[in-house]
Amino acid sequence: MMLAIAMAVAVLGGVYLAYQGAPLVIWTLAVFLYALGLWGGGLLPDGGMLLTLAVLTPLALVLNLPMLRRRLLSRRLFTVFKRSLPPMSATEREALEAGDTWWEGELFKGNPDWQRLRSIPVTRLTEEEQAFLDHQVAHLCRMLDNDRIEREQGDLPAEVWEYIRKERFFSLIIPKAYGGREFSSYAQSCVVTRIATRNISTAVTVMVPNSLGPGELILHYGTQAQKDYWLPRLADGREIPCFALTGPDVGSDAASMPDFGVVCRGMHEGREVLGARVSFSKRYITLAPVATVVGLAFRLHDPEGLLGAPREYGITCALVPAAHPGIRIGDRHLPMGLAFMNGPVEGRDVFIPLEWIIGGPEMAGKGWRMLMECLSVGRAISLPALGTAAGHMSFRMTGAYARIRRQFRLPIGRFEGVQEAMARIGGYAYRMEAARRLTATAGDLGIKPSVISAIAKYHMTEMMRRSINDAMDVHGGRGIIFGPRNYLGYSYQAIPVGITVEGANILTRNLMIFGQGAVRCHPFVFQEMEAVRNDDLAAFDRLLLGHMGYSINRGTRALVLGLTGSRWAQTPVRSGPTADYYRQLTRMSAALAFVSDVAMGVLGGELKRKERLSARLGDVLSHLYLGSAVLKFHEDAGRPEAELPFVRWALDDSLNQIGLAFDEFFRNFPSPLLGAALRALVFPLGRPYHPPRDKDGQSIAQAMMQTGGVRDRLTGIGFWAEDDGEDAVGRMEVALRMLEQVEPLYDRFQKLVARGEVEGLTFGERLAQARERGLLDEEEAERLQVYEDLRYECVLTDALPPEALAPIGARASSGRRRERADSAAV
Ligand SMILES: Cc1cc2nc3c(=O)[nH]c(=O)nc-3n(C[C@H](O)[C@H](O)[C@H](O)COP(=O)(O)OP(=O)(O)OC[C@H]3O[C@@H](n4cnc5c(N)ncnc54)[C@H](O)[C@@H]3O)c2cc1C
Repeated sequence: MMLAIAMAVAVLGGVYLAYQGAPLVIWTLAVFLYALGLWGGGLLPDGGMLLTLAVLTPLALVLNLPMLRRRLLSRRLFTVFKRSLPPMSATEREALEAGDTWWEGELFKGNPDWQRLRSIPVTRLTEEEQAFLDHQVAHLCRMLDNDRIEREQGDLPAEVWEYIRKERFFSLIIPKAYGGREFSSYAQSCVVTRIATRNISTAVTVMVPNSLGPGELILHYGTQAQKDYWLPRLADGREIPCFALTGPDVGSDAASMPDFGVVCRGMHEGREVLGARVSFSKRYITLAPVATVVGLAFRLHDPEGLLGAPREYGITCALVPAAHPGIRIGDRHLPMGLAFMNGPVEGRDVFIPLEWIIGGPEMAGKGWRMLMECLSVGRAISLPALGTAAGHMSFRMTGAYARIRRQFRLPIGRFEGVQEAMARIGGYAYRMEAARRLTATAGDLGIKPSVISAIAKYHMTEMMRRSINDAMDVHGGRGIIFGPRNYLGYSYQAIPVGITVEGANILTRNLMIFGQGAVRCHPFVFQEMEAVRNDDLAAFDRLLLGHMGYSINRGTRALVLGLTGSRWAQTPVRSGPTADYYRQLTRMSAALAFVSDVAMGVLGGELKRKERLSARLGDVLSHLYLGSAVLKFHEDAGRPEAELPFVRWALDDSLNQIGLAFDEFFRNFPSPLLGAALRALVFPLGRPYHPPRDKDGQSIAQAMMQTGGVRDRLTGIGFWAEDDGEDAVGRMEVALRMLEQVEPLYDRFQKLVARGEVEGLTFGERLAQARERGLLDEEEAERLQVYEDLRYECVLTDALPPEALAPIGARASSGRRRERADSAAV
């Protein structure tokens, strides 16, 4: 009995200390006291006590005395660590070091402080930003004819280009002092989202100069002269920028670009200056065909040492007028046939003065770092906004169509199969809006969110892909036929663009999210790597001790939370429908921290090549982030009850995805035994997460088919032409509103028809009969006819005369081509 009690005390005491993350000294004291207790209680004979002391004392000394620990333990691990550390190029290192960690750091570290999430102030639009959205953006949206732009014209109309420039849409990130609008990241996100619900090509056109590009780079790294010259010109649209990084041989691996410049002397504006002769071949460059200034990335070499000693400087960014002699620009690619401007930029032995380097000659070779630092802010805004807009469009139009469209005498939104697709659209839309807001907020807090921007980019474009596919399924042929009535098809065409740009999705999921997350968010790994690289054993030793304690603590937490159903995990809301979600996220966060440590410890640098394993851990981190964004979005709105089905759907789905990702990770872990042990620790009572419930899916589908409420709160940022019955989207809005008024009457009338109480070949004939027989009064009959006419318009698709299908080369162009003449350089 005593023995059983003693063993229980050992296990529970150990678990308690590990769970609390007790320091090594406390552990040491506890172990000695325990041994003493056993001896005092007669469970340990004198000889046993002596033996225990003989074993424990040297162990305690080695662990607690840094000098001994370093010599006997850390040095060996230091050598192993050094051997397993993957080689890292300078560009990889710059990519890893660029940017900051934020809320995802808490989630990665296994014990998220939910109060920190709650206290993140979500950016609100200023009066000026709101007015811009309500007036200029709304006006721009009204000017946009989606079908004409994408199918007929292959370009934005000249008056749209003019309006964009005049209203300084290209200047959202430029400070007021230079004539820009100086909007918050959140406001930029709202502007792009709203335009994208109207026309993708216009959204891309506006998005690019405000994202990674010359404006951003000049703003952060430009010399004062460059700022004074370029920023006012970019702000008022005199200059249209593009940024050229990608080429035929380098896409995802842009850092190994072959484009180069050689430092030399040459003539510029009639005088001899120091410059570089640059050769480059770039492709896929957005806005290039109309750009007046090109941000150019190339490798700079100085073999003659004209800038000092002979040197390879590495990636360098310069700003070059598009009209500069030798630059070939103006031809167009046709990205999925969409109308936004995209094309190649080439040049051979183009001489550019060195003061065109962004930041001046002293920034030669610092281009990659600049790009990495700036990329994260733009990536946290642009593609998430496009994804959200597509999600909102799918939500809003599918909801309306599913109620308006009837088959088998029922609105198709009442069929369970259709509801399944609608639930995904609704759940994703909720998650995307939540993530869009939280992610954009990071930029407004001055954070360069490298990991969450990758999470947001990847997941929101993937959700866009799924939402539009679901929306297309629900619309059937109505979504497939191109023409002025089609509001989905062009978003569908844009999916691969969203998936590919700003970090292609396969790469982003497999390499970046966990790869960067693990190194940047982990409290010890990056510093340990630095210590090893700097041959700093003392620092490594200190870190190692902390790291061991951290791992033991996270593993114990994962196990205890798993065994107790996460009952005692931290939650900012004690009870209520969301409390358990906080607890489950806390539990999975602890599991991620521990499993990541084991994976890194066992696989070392090999984990980088085991992309499918690291991608799954990246999925866990991503869904922790997305799930917490949903909880915050719900909390910030005062926990509206009507949104609970959306919250539950999104969280159930995220937890289920986390469970699946862990499951696949354990199944495929190179050591099956360790994989099984990890599974037993993370899911000691089995995997408790399941896909969202049908009941919540049904509630979501219903909410999507009703005006106001969640539909408006969620998708209110979009432009829906709500009062315009002539507009393809506006017509759906008007029809849905009308249907809500007329539906009981419509159903009554349909029943009369079904029962054969009124007959006739056409709707009009049947209506007239119902009227004659006194089954409907005049006003009712009129209302039904008005709705029926509108309904029929809503289900129609376009049929176009053959001449409307001219090849793109024969389409009228707005003539908005690049104006080179007025472009001069600093
Ligand atoms: C419409 C459009 C607009 C663009 N605008 C610009 C612009 O303005 N400026 C600019 O410089 N560039 C631009 N790009 C280029 C864009 O950034 C690249 O297309 C992108 O980086 C991918 O490069 P790639 O197409 O050559 O594909 P690749 O790099 O050849 O990749 C092919 C596939 O392999 C995957 N892959 C590659 N490496 C790995 C890896 N290690 N692990 C897992 N998967 C991997 C990728 O995810 C992708 O699925 C644009 C591209 C398009 C299509």
